[in-house]
Amino acid sequence: MTLQSFGVIGLAVMGENIALNVERNGFPIAVYNRSRDKTDKFMAERAEGRNVKAAYTLEDFVASLERPRRILIMVQAGKPVDAVIAQLRPLLDEGDIIIDGGNSWFEDTDRRTQELEPAGFRFIGMGVSGGEEGALNGPSLMPGGTESSYQYLSPIFNKIAAQVDDGPCVTYIGPGGSGHYVKMVHNGIEYGDMQLIAEAYDLLKNAAGLDHKQLHEVFAEWNTTDELNSFLIEITANIFPYIDPDTSLPLVELIVDSAGQKGTGRWTVQTALELGVSIPTITAAVNARIISSYKQERVAASKVLTGPSGKYSGSTKDFINMVRDALYCSKICSYAQGMALLSKASQTYNWNLKLGELARIWKGGCIIRAGFLNKIKKAFNEDPALPNLLLAPEFKQTILDRQTAWREVLATAAKLGIPVPAFSASLDYFDSYRRDRLPQNLTQAQRDYFGAHTYERLDKPGTFHTEWVPVT
Ligand code: NAP
Repeated sequence: MTLQSFGVIGLAVMGENIALNVERNGFPIAVYNRSRDKTDKFMAERAEGRNVKAAYTLEDFVASLERPRRILIMVQAGKPVDAVIAQLRPLLDEGDIIIDGGNSWFEDTDRRTQELEPAGFRFIGMGVSGGEEGALNGPSLMPGGTESSYQYLSPIFNKIAAQVDDGPCVTYIGPGGSGHYVKMVHNGIEYGDMQLIAEAYDLLKNAAGLDHKQLHEVFAEWNTTDELNSFLIEITANIFPYIDPDTSLPLVELIVDSAGQKGTGRWTVQTALELGVSIPTITAAVNARIISSYKQERVAASKVLTGPSGKYSGSTKDFINMVRDALYCSKICSYAQGMALLSKASQTYNWNLKLGELARIWKGGCIIRAGFLNKIKKAFNEDPALPNLLLAPEFKQTILDRQTAWREVLATAAKLGIPVPAFSASLDYFDSYRRDRLPQNLTQAQRDYFGAHTYERLDKPGTFHTEWVPVT
């Protein structure tokens, strides 16, 4: 019996598309899904004429693979991954490689590595970005685990990943759960990008009064610029002119304004808090989705909580350009936060992440793919110890040149009562980061007053406590 090169377990959207991508690139595949109907459907509708073996038991699946076996698990994250591993384990041989390609929590990946590697198996936790289209035609892949295991996978991953001017969008990320951590922060950055774009839309529509044709034109034009050219701006431009056939209205205006989330944004915020890294733009984006979900409450509140309204009174063309500058400056702050989080995680967990290389593999395949990532790659390649992206010469200058417009947009939003939580959080981040003195001297005094927490002084070394008494 000829053996297949690569196996995929889980034939939902991601699994079936990755499986087809691997096969198209010259690697015969075996597939297995817990429920038989998905396998049958896949074989009938998508596998005809391809080198695919379907298995209906895990025993047959494992027996159909060449050794060391390379098995990608593409099932729902969490307990299902443990369940599949537990079923697979007794069937595998030493040296076989299990890859978890789902959005797993990185500590689960660390745990699974600890359980599998000492028993002689190889385990790779891999972030996969790009949705179903990316999975089929070239995703961005973020594999973490033991580096020696990666050599068995790189010939396949280099081929199936998205290809950009400086190589395939895959690289060995680092040990243990680092690949899944990087994917999680990628998703957090994606939340930030999406919220910033939503705020730009709100301002252009409600402050500047642009209609859907004009919104399309503005975003399409922005997508031609060096700084904003990206997948998310491109799809945003495509969304505006889409007319609902039933009502002849722009479809986007018929969609309920309540955003869902699956958890990777929330995880990014949770780990940032635990590591003591400030990521206010990404946090604002997660919060914006949460408050958007209070739809009924907001509708009721809108009838009683009045505030300003109206339109921007200056030149529409100038306002559009100011919003573009505000969007770009905010985006730089958001990426600065995401990269700072990755840097701290790398130090904390000894991952030796290469931030420039991460920016490179996000240039294609994934949801945050953008021309701007080239600039981030360059900034970290030139100075791998860069403490913050805001200090990279190009980004520093960009913000210095555009901050007046950014501030004007925020002032306008406040005057008109338009919420811009991610734009505001970004400017606050910039203004806090650039200040040599923040008001937390007062916070320290208060902490010492009510809790004897002590403080340090600017003018002499040591820690101090004062018996604060009211001065009359
Ligand atoms: P999904 O909806 O997350 O999961 C469905 C698959 O999991 C089905 O094949 C299902 O098998 C299997 N499954 C669930 N519980 C199982 C169990 N206890 N034992 C065995 N199999 C089980 O699928 P998906 O959207 O393709 O995503 C797969 C993974 O990729 C997830 O971790 C997801 O977060 C991640 N991801 C998704 C996207 C995306 O755009 N969808 C993008 C990047 C990453 P049955 O058919 O038998 O129910």
